[in-house]
Amino acid sequence: MSYKVTLIPGDGIGPEVIDATVKCLEALGVDIEWERVAAGECALESHGKLLPDATLETIRRNKIALKGPITTPVGKGFRSVNVAMRQIFELYVCMRPVKSFGLPTAFHQDVDIIIMRENTEDLYAGVEFSENAAETNKLIEDINAISKEKIREKSALSIKPISRFASERITRFAFEYAVKNNRKKVSCVHKANIMKYTDGLFLDTFYSVAKKYQGRIEVSDVIVDNLAMQLTKRPEFFDVLVLPNLYGDIISDLGAGLIGGLGLAAGANIGDTMAIFEPTHGSAPKYAGKNKVNPIATILSASLMLRHLGESEKAKILEQAIEDVIKDNSSVTYDLKPTRDDPTAVGTKEAALAIIERIKELQK
Ligand code: NAD
Repeated sequence: MSYKVTLIPGDGIGPEVIDATVKCLEALGVDIEWERVAAGECALESHGKLLPDATLETIRRNKIALKGPITTPVGKGFRSVNVAMRQIFELYVCMRPVKSFGLPTAFHQDVDIIIMRENTEDLYAGVEFSENAAETNKLIEDINAISKEKIREKSALSIKPISRFASERITRFAFEYAVKNNRKKVSCVHKANIMKYTDGLFLDTFYSVAKKYQGRIEVSDVIVDNLAMQLTKRPEFFDVLVLPNLYGDIISDLGAGLIGGLGLAAGANIGDTMAIFEPTHGSAPKYAGKNKVNPIATILSASLMLRHLGESEKAKILEQAIEDVIKDNSSVTYDLKPTRDDPTAVGTKEAALAIIERIKELQK
């Protein structure tokens, strides 16, 4: 089977980790025709736009993309190219697996959690009002006229919209994923004790959807601060987590920390018809071009892409090769060593090469 996939190397360390990933997929023997396009700071230089129309067009056409991280230029154009792409294509699920890969120095060895973060609303919706603007002061006045609780004068405001529609589709996706992937439990993460209307709606919707899966999937809910504590103590207690946007963002990084850091944290942004696969980490500009950072988060994101394409057997080989290289620990980047200045750490290219060698051995 042959596939056409949009490839967005991105900024900073993006081109290096994407290059390493493409080489691993070549070694696996997956037949992919890449359509390489620009987005981010590099596109601003070449196309005068952070998110060129041609880039959007290829994603729309191919319906699938592999993307490196993109720098968010402070104070220019989009709030974030990444957030914009998720909104334009209605990629309403941000799926982030948090799985132990046998890293000797990781805090936990038996983590296997899937984070399903709602990707389109909540405090990420971008509905914000700046301090002292006339419309902000007017809004504060209007709210104070109808609300029992008052907002302090001259505050800045960020609106947190949560809808039944968006809460329902992310929850349904999480349950369907659990059923298809033999998962046992789905937990809703919230702060409905304080945000009774927004998080309350998210939680209420979760339990309405959950009814359909009664007897097949165990169901629970957990308050987000309690979850943060529980994850550090006994992450094996959790399976699939469904969260509103902001909690999902924060818990994803906590999850990455549990298994060994951002260098291992893969991600996928999924909608009804399209998907963009990308690591959780950013463009780490200080390491750009230094052959220093870990390519595994991007390689694992490509593995999620293979599963999405129905290439599960290839994905299994890729993940096994990664696990073997991590466990062996001799050909890994600095972030997977016991100390950050460990002289035995290898570079991005060498780490990818070790994975490629292992892929070849596994395929013999
Ligand atoms: P970052 O994730 O780029 O880097 C933070 C630190 O994490 C780095 O300094 C490095 O120590 C470590 N790190 C990150 N990736 C690593 C890897 N692959 N291997 C080893 N160590 C790694 O976060 P930041 O510095 O806050 O953000 C830099 C830029 O990236 C910003 O412009 C931000 O907006 C953007 N960003 C983009 C995305 C995305 O494209 N999806 C996500 C997050 C941040």
